[in-house]
Amino acid sequence: MPIATVNPADGETLRTFDPLGEQEIERRIAAADTAFRGYRTTSFADRARLMNAAADLLEKEAGDVARMMTTEMGKTLKAAEAEAAKCVKAMRWYASHAESLLADEHPAESDVRDTGAVAARVRYRPLGPVLAVMPWNFPLWQVIRFAAPALMAGNVALLKHASNVPQTALYLEDLFDRAGFAEGCFQTLLVPSSAIEGILRDRRVVAATLTGSEGAGRSVASIAGDEVKKTVLELGGSDPYLVMPSADVEAAARTAVTARVQNNGQSCIAAKRFIAHTDVYDTFAERFTDGMRALTVGDPMEAATDVGPLSSEQGRADLEELVDDALSQGATALCGGRRPEGFDRGWFYEPTVLTGVTPAMRIHREEAFGPIATLYRVAGIDEAVELANDTSFGLSSNVWTQDEAEIERFVRDLEAGGVYVNGMTASHPALPFGGVKRSGYGRELADHGIREFCNATTVWRG
Ligand code: NDP
Repeated sequence: MPIATVNPADGETLRTFDPLGEQEIERRIAAADTAFRGYRTTSFADRARLMNAAADLLEKEAGDVARMMTTEMGKTLKAAEAEAAKCVKAMRWYASHAESLLADEHPAESDVRDTGAVAARVRYRPLGPVLAVMPWNFPLWQVIRFAAPALMAGNVALLKHASNVPQTALYLEDLFDRAGFAEGCFQTLLVPSSAIEGILRDRRVVAATLTGSEGAGRSVASIAGDEVKKTVLELGGSDPYLVMPSADVEAAARTAVTARVQNNGQSCIAAKRFIAHTDVYDTFAERFTDGMRALTVGDPMEAATDVGPLSSEQGRADLEELVDDALSQGATALCGGRRPEGFDRGWFYEPTVLTGVTPAMRIHREEAFGPIATLYRVAGIDEAVELANDTSFGLSSNVWTQDEAEIERFVRDLEAGGVYVNGMTASHPALPFGGVKRSGYGRELADHGIREFCNATTVWRG
């Protein structure tokens, strides 16, 4: 994949970049190693000052950054602006909370005595240079979600961003530089994915985090495993969205549309499989389909646009294959199921609702990374849970019900890293984020996220 900005709204190549050569990669790894030796001893107050300075800069530049993201990967400008604002918030949150999240932990006195110590505690120390392999779908947020806690913990970062968002990748390096972080604390490596193995095997790179496809995750995790290096993986999802008889069906249908088409449908935590109880199925199906049909597809820079193009021609081709496979095996498109009319350029696809989906169809098992919803009818909660869990993914889940017993059942039984009740999945700095099964492992955000790349050091005194 060439490293280039190609506008998904018209297919035009706007800028191309030469990948870094081996010498330059070596120079940057060495800079990260050197930077870590100094940065690891800085105080939380110093790091917070730098992180807040970066947040202030980003807040000031959010408009331009949003336009850049929209140009590179096609999300609507309003979504890009919201993404920038979310990053600012997370940076400030970690700036103010990192010290308490990583404060020394003291076991109970009786347990300390039981170890034979006069004192014992746990100190969270940084690990070193961490490689972040990141995707294009939230080109700023995916990086900040890792970088804000990692830098606040005292680690330094090497970013290998997706090849279609090079300008956003370079902006991030520039942002941290201008905020005052020492040279080498945050670096962008414009390299193809084939360069990752060499970087990850370098002894100075101590860990990796990856957000992206299952294949990319498997590759990075197996190299890291071979080197015995820590990884966090945030891979795809095919989140269920369950609507039960006691739900506010109108609200559930309205939110379902947003949950499915956020980011032009290209979000790992987008609800993708809509499962409605038979008592409310018809109403939900009608309202949801009406909502999907009413969306405005178009130029992502326009304020009136709800759904912009897919990020790449390949992304749209993959989606078309999934839909065509389902339709050819008997599924029905309640709306969409094709490219919209009136667009001779750009990688647009109509918001689509499919029914009659069976386990034999690829879309039943695979992640649909675009504005495609599958809709299922179930007779009761047992069938709902079984269908919700009938996936190799386990990122998050959404349930709509007023029944406390049903809520408890879903919280107990849904195989996912999150259960969002009467709302849609959304990440927040204070809540851990991540999945189970093939959606990956480890957690980002909250205290869980900042501790992933720390050495939990036992300090024992006799
Ligand atoms: P990828 O997983 O290919 O891209 C994500 C990142 O991984 C990019 O930086 C990419 O680099 C890198 N990468 C790609 N292949 C490898 C590899 N073998 N080893 C190490 N790193 C690699 O995602 P795509 O853009 O191709 O999207 C494909 C599918 O992945 C989507 O349809 C969706 O299902 C899923 N996905 C999930 C995301 C999520 O948020 N969980 C985000 C993006 C995609 P490069 O760009 O240079 O190839």
